[in-house]
Amino acid sequence: MVTGKTQVFGLIGNPVAQSFSPFIHNSLAQALGIDMTYVTFPVARGSLKDAYRGMKALGIRGMNVTVPYKGDIMAELDGVDEAAAKIGAVNTLVYEGEQVKGYNTDWIGLWRSLERRGVGLKGRRVLILGAGGSARATAVMAAKYGAVHITVANRTLEKAQAITRLIGNTYSVKTSACSIEEAEITEGYEVIFQTTSLGMYPKTEGCPIRKTRCLNTADVAVDLIYNPEETQFLAAARQAGCQTINGMEMLFFQAVRAFELWQGQRVPEDVENRCLADFKDAVAEKNNGTKP
Ligand code: NAP
Repeated sequence: MVTGKTQVFGLIGNPVAQSFSPFIHNSLAQALGIDMTYVTFPVARGSLKDAYRGMKALGIRGMNVTVPYKGDIMAELDGVDEAAAKIGAVNTLVYEGEQVKGYNTDWIGLWRSLERRGVGLKGRRVLILGAGGSARATAVMAAKYGAVHITVANRTLEKAQAITRLIGNTYSVKTSACSIEEAEITEGYEVIFQTTSLGMYPKTEGCPIRKTRCLNTADVAVDLIYNPEETQFLAAARQAGCQTINGMEMLFFQAVRAFELWQGQRVPEDVENRCLADFKDAVAEKNNGTKP
């Protein structure tokens, strides 16, 4: 029950009504008996500074930030953690004393979703399709967890090159950038991440690759999309014999990491597993409702 002492956390962005974050955070809080509630705040364009000041004035204890403010919020903060600075996006605001520090938990969420499936990246050759915000988080994660070579392939080549420059200058990993047309006919990749928005509901027929030669040497394929559960890309990867992973657990674990940063404690595995199962049911229910 919400009382006068209940701590309030929230999400700012636009739109936010479809977000699963309230479901995840409130179920974690309930499972752990923590007196908090998590709500969404749609913030109109031009109102980000006011929203941030409002958060502080109203004593909101922590905030997630989503599209379109993950980059712009950084200018307001007292500090930004190292990975978030590299990625160029913050999705979690954490009070450290009176100061507010920005973190990015997408890359950790993605890593935990791989780790749970026994997927490692040490010494592996990675291909990332796409060069948007989630590709940056993926590249930082792959570099941090020991990939030996990272190729970024994108429709707009300059954006792929910007990511490989950043990663190559920061981590000891070999990098290359190319077009998607070149990547799809190249062999040698072992783990492939699909980070473009192609294939996402309602345009589920979309797929960034038309030729599937790049899948021949891969044993793991990850699509950051979670609606539909199996995109055209993941279906092609499954047919090519890859282990396939969609974006559902990434979404769950980026929220878990934000929760942990706010509460200063690791969520126990049994609680994690129970809340993840409930979350998957909720997503499946919503996805079924959105199927044509
Ligand atoms: P973004 O920054 O807008 O980047 C979009 C990417 O898709 C860019 O590389 C863009 O290429 C490419 N793209 C878009 N339309 C294309 C087309 N018609 N042909 C070829 N490439 C196209 O988006 P984002 O934030 O990285 O998100 C991308 C996807 O990841 C979304 O589906 C999102 O739902 C998902 N995601 C999932 C999670 C999770 O927790 N599971 C977290 C974050 C994102 P150009 O650069 O050439 O425009």
